[in-house]
Amino acid sequence: MVCNSNALWSASEAEAHINQLAQPLDPQRDRELLPLTQSLGRVLADTVTSPLDFPHWDNSAMDGYAVRFADVQQCSADRPITLAVVTEIPAGKIPQVSIKAGQAARIFTGAMVPLGADTIVMQEDTEREGDRVILRQAPQPQAFVRHRGSFQRSGEPLLPAGIQLQAADLAILAAAQCTQVPVYRWLRVAIFATGDELVPPDRPLQPGQIVDSNSYALAALVQQGGALAQVFGIVPDSRADLRRAIISAQESADVILSSGGVSVGDYDYIDELLQDLGATLHIRSVAVKPGKPLTVATLPGVGDDRPRLYFGLPGNPVSSLVTFWRFVQPALQRLSGRRDAGCRWLTVPTAEDLHSGGDRETYVWGRVTWTQGGNGEEIQFNPAPGYQNSANLVNLAQTNALAQVPLGVKRIGAGDRVQVLLV
Ligand code: AMP
Ligand code: MG
Repeated sequence: MVCNSNALWSASEAEAHINQLAQPLDPQRDRELLPLTQSLGRVLADTVTSPLDFPHWDNSAMDGYAVRFADVQQCSADRPITLAVVTEIPAGKIPQVSIKAGQAARIFTGAMVPLGADTIVMQEDTEREGDRVILRQAPQPQAFVRHRGSFQRSGEPLLPAGIQLQAADLAILAAAQCTQVPVYRWLRVAIFATGDELVPPDRPLQPGQIVDSNSYALAALVQQGGALAQVFGIVPDSRADLRRAIISAQESADVILSSGGVSVGDYDYIDELLQDLGATLHIRSVAVKPGKPLTVATLPGVGDDRPRLYFGLPGNPVSSLVTFWRFVQPALQRLSGRRDAGCRWLTVPTAEDLHSGGDRETYVWGRVTWTQGGNGEEIQFNPAPGYQNSANLVNLAQTNALAQVPLGVKRIGAGDRVQVLLV
């Protein structure tokens, strides 16, 4: 089925439509429980609730003395107060005595505050003489006591569903003793490259052949995004081979990415085959440069009823990456269950003039850099040096941003601010 797919979509229309098509994995059905040590980079499928108060008990934030505020509130340089040190409480030990009037406990950072005491005086503000401690200045009431539950109460949400777990999140899960973490299963993404001219990188090149570089970039981007890349390799421009590849991708993956074969050339069979296989073709071209030919389709699921999202990316290496960054990456994030799915835009000055034909939204690839300028940190966009052409992948190296020259704009001058997509 074809639905208005012959229209030339604007980038934002295409983005919104793809967003609707990218239905997240099911947090109940598409989940697994993983050991904490294996959950880095995975997306949390449930809100994790704290089983504990944080801190778990009143404890000291300093090495010093646990005292009764009432005993020491009047103390000053002129009227020092001497307390009897009746016990010592290292971290991890349960206080054995409670503190009575005129007494103090030697205490260390993280140790439980003993009954009777309500204030910690830091070691640096005291003098020790044998079994006694002398104070020459009054502390604030409850100073340096970290109260039970003051950071977080048990039963409250600790981490929300849909976050991609990072180092600090693992620390929080460990502290909450959540050793089996509910995460979404991997999103599976099949990748194949189409073209009779393509050879793998380890094969001697014959005249007219080129190396399939797209498979490597796409697989890396899929993995970086926290999904599982299933690399199918090179498929020749033959209807039968392409059909077989699409069907086996349909069986094994949630999302299918192909590169090449979606333009208007005689050997561009992808769209036609997708229709034969019962796909709904949503988008066939988007008014962006590079990357105009872009097919977005949904295919029926095989083995389960989840529709498969198909992206037919253009073959030119830069076009293929740019359309991935602009349209596929946010969709994969959304499908993976991420609550922060979407393109990350930043507005920064450009270091050089940026040009466009004006007839399509144009992306100039390059780097956003942070440098130490006269007025502190300076951030700017530097277009990749050399020839910016959709077939030239050489100057894509180290790209971390795409500057967007909007439709109708032919030039953005050096020093002017430009919207960049962080990739
Ligand atoms: P196509 O969209 O199939 O017409 O391909 C457009 C251009 O991209 C052609 O010059 C192809 O040789 C090149 N191309 C297609 N697929 C790849 C690939 N996997 N890696 C590198 N270049 C490719
Ligand atoms: Mg081709």
